[in-house]
Amino acid sequence: MERDDVIIGLEIHLQLNTESKLFCTCSTDYQKEPNTNICEVCTSQPGAKPMAINEKAIEFTVKLAKALNAQVLTEKEIFVQRKHYFYPDLPSNYQRTSMPIAVKGNLNGIRIREIHLEEDPGRYDIRTGLVEYNRCGNPLIEIVTEPDFKSSEETKKFLDKLAILLDYLEITRREEGSMRVDANISLRGSNRVEIKNINSFRGVITALNYEITRQSTLLKQNMKVERETRHFDESQGITIGSRKKETVDDYRYIPDPDLVPIYVTKEYVDSIQLPELPEQKIQRLVETYKIKRHDAEILAQDKNISDVFEKLVKENINSELAVKWLNRDLRKQLNYRSMNFSDSKLKYSDIKQIIVLLSEKKIHEKIAEQMLIELLDKGKTAIKEKLEDEEKISAIIDEVLLNNKKVVEDYKQGNEKAFHFLFGQVMKLTKKLAEPKIVEKLLKDKLDK
Ligand SMILES: [Zn+2]
Repeated sequence: MERDDVIIGLEIHLQLNTESKLFCTCSTDYQKEPNTNICEVCTSQPGAKPMAINEKAIEFTVKLAKALNAQVLTEKEIFVQRKHYFYPDLPSNYQRTSMPIAVKGNLNGIRIREIHLEEDPGRYDIRTGLVEYNRCGNPLIEIVTEPDFKSSEETKKFLDKLAILLDYLEITRREEGSMRVDANISLRGSNRVEIKNINSFRGVITALNYEITRQSTLLKQNMKVERETRHFDESQGITIGSRKKETVDDYRYIPDPDLVPIYVTKEYVDSIQLPELPEQKIQRLVETYKIKRHDAEILAQDKNISDVFEKLVKENINSELAVKWLNRDLRKQLNYRSMNFSDSKLKYSDIKQIIVLLSEKKIHEKIAEQMLIELLDKGKTAIKEKLEDEEKISAIIDEVLLNNKKVVEDYKQGNEKAFHFLFGQVMKLTKKLAEPKIVEKLLKDKLDK
């Protein structure tokens, strides 16, 4: 939805993939048996004090800040605050959240206001009343953007770019729900609505489109858009108003007296190395493998696919064939399934097998596609073996020869066209999935007998 009177800002929460939690040594693995990765600190037992902040989480925050061209606040005491709210997922009744660690970043033309660290609450199941604290105390990075987005499309482009960047940085978890977004949206200078806890990037776009329609309908009818917090119902794709909007006062922020402030030195920031980022990779692919920039851009959108490309070329696969197949055929099937390469569970050896067969012209593109589809949907492919089953092909050839006695005679009289016709008939009956070379050989053998 393109509108110039829409103003959107985002708060993006990312789960970091540190091994331990933010203020204790419990594992961050929250897929384990409920309430097994917990201790007195992350469940806020009386008298339990937090440990010093997890340094890995600070390192990851600095990495992200540098990748977003943000300015890390060095030589400055950065307090960890207590943000109070009352809900069963939070045993301490407050969430520890740092003051900004970095400010004034930029991604895809969108200004990043600040980046800070905070702890994840646990999970409360409203239907059963059960609470699960394995996630409680896990480190989260929060990225707050300026209200620079003018449409849901622009928001999507930004989030896609961020997701690619995060793939390269390897500092965040990947499972579902590991990125959560709050979106602020207002229309025509009217009241701002906050949509809370959207659990996927795709959900953000659905929620924003719904809200743009809802608010513009209200304004058209001269009705007021309430300033409120709304929740996104992913299953229905709608936002639902909640009665109460917490204000900054409700949270009663105070510096946590149990923690020393975070202090980041300039030397430390300088010492943090970034891995190769998407733009650098694109340039390197173009220079090293002499491929088109556009092709390199598509390859680099999925770090794993671009790694597969490099490995193939290093193993002497023709780079043009590899680019074409990875960017066109593989992407088509992955997009169709809304997957990226790592979700697909495809192995490098699978890809290599297909591309080698293609490059040696042992299979045509249609078989390659069938093989890929089977690998994606069943985890294995037997097509090649099946197609090489000479017995089956042989039976089909016998059938074709029996039904085309006149053509067989023509061939024996030296008519080459007759051979092509018979070959075509066999291929047709194998649904074009047979190995052409095998068909050709078997057919010749039978005819020349
Ligand atoms: Zn703990």
